[in-house]
Amino acid sequence: MALIFKSGDELFDQGIDLIKRKEFAKAKSNFQKSVEKDGKNAEIANIYIAIIDVYSDPDSADRLEFLASRLEATNIGEFEFGLTSIESKKFAVELRLTAERIRIFAMNGNSNVREDKGNKLLQLAQKFQMQIGNDGLKLNELISNDVSITGIRESLSIQALGYETLASAVVLTDPKKAAEMLQNAYNYRKQTGEDVGNDMNLIKAYSKTAKCWICGRSTTGEGIHFITMSSEITPFMRTGQDDIQKSAPENFESVYVCRPCYSAISRRADVISKQYFDRGMQELRNTEARLQMEIAEVRAYASMRR
Ligand SMILES: [Zn+2]
Repeated sequence: MALIFKSGDELFDQGIDLIKRKEFAKAKSNFQKSVEKDGKNAEIANIYIAIIDVYSDPDSADRLEFLASRLEATNIGEFEFGLTSIESKKFAVELRLTAERIRIFAMNGNSNVREDKGNKLLQLAQKFQMQIGNDGLKLNELISNDVSITGIRESLSIQALGYETLASAVVLTDPKKAAEMLQNAYNYRKQTGEDVGNDMNLIKAYSKTAKCWICGRSTTGEGIHFITMSSEITPFMRTGQDDIQKSAPENFESVYVCRPCYSAISRRADVISKQYFDRGMQELRNTEARLQMEIAEVRAYASMRR
C-alpha cells in the first residue's frame, strides 16, 4: 500500500535515483506525478522532465527551446542531472544556439536559399565562439558523455559548413569564388581535425579550366561548367593537345565538353532514345495483341472439339 500512497517528495527522490540508473521513462513519470501532487520540488521536476524529453529526441528544436525557456525562467542557478552538473542560464544559451543550428540545417532550396543558409551559419558560428567559447557543450555531455566538443570547436565546424554552403550557392555563377569559399572551409575543417578530402577535391575541380573539345569555348569548374565525356582520341589528334588549356585529360580516354554542348547532346540523345523506346513498346503491344487473338482462336477450336 505504501507504494500507492507515495508523497510527491518521495516520488521526486525516487525519480532522482531513476535518472542515475538512466531509467528516464520511469523517472519522467515519477516527476510528473510529483508535480501533480504539488511536491515542493515541482520547479526542478519540470526542468528534469524537459531534459528527459530532450534526451529522447535531441534533434527536436522545439524541445530544446522549451527546456531553454524553463531554464531561463528559473531561479535555480546550478543543479545535477545524473552525474552532470548544469548551470541553468549557461545551458539555456547553448540550447538556444543548438535549436537555431537545427533550424538552419533544415533549410533547403535554390541558390538564394543556400546563400541565406550559408550566411546564417557563419553568424551562428560567431555566436558559438562568443557565447560558449572554450566551455564544453553540455548537451553532448548529457546525451553521449562526450566532453571533447567545445563552443570553439563547434564554431569551426559550423563555419566550415557555412563556407561549403556558400560555395554551393555561388558555383553556378562564379566557380572561382566558390573555390575561394571552399578554401576557407578547408582551413576551418583542418583545425578541427575533420576530413578535408571532399573540400580539397572540390577546390581542385572548381579551379580547373578547360577548353570544350566541341565548341572551343574556355570554361572553369569541372563537373559543373564542363564535363568529361568518354571518347576515343586517335594518336594523330593528340598532337594538337599542346595548348595551355586542355581539351582532354592526360590519358586521352575522354574529352572535356562544356555544359551547353553536353546538355544539347544529352537532351537530343534522350529524345532519340525515347522515340526508339516508344516504337519498341508499340511493337511489343502489337505482338501481344496478335498472340492473344491466336490463343483465343486455339481455345475456341479446342472447345469445339470436346
Ligand atoms: Zn562547348
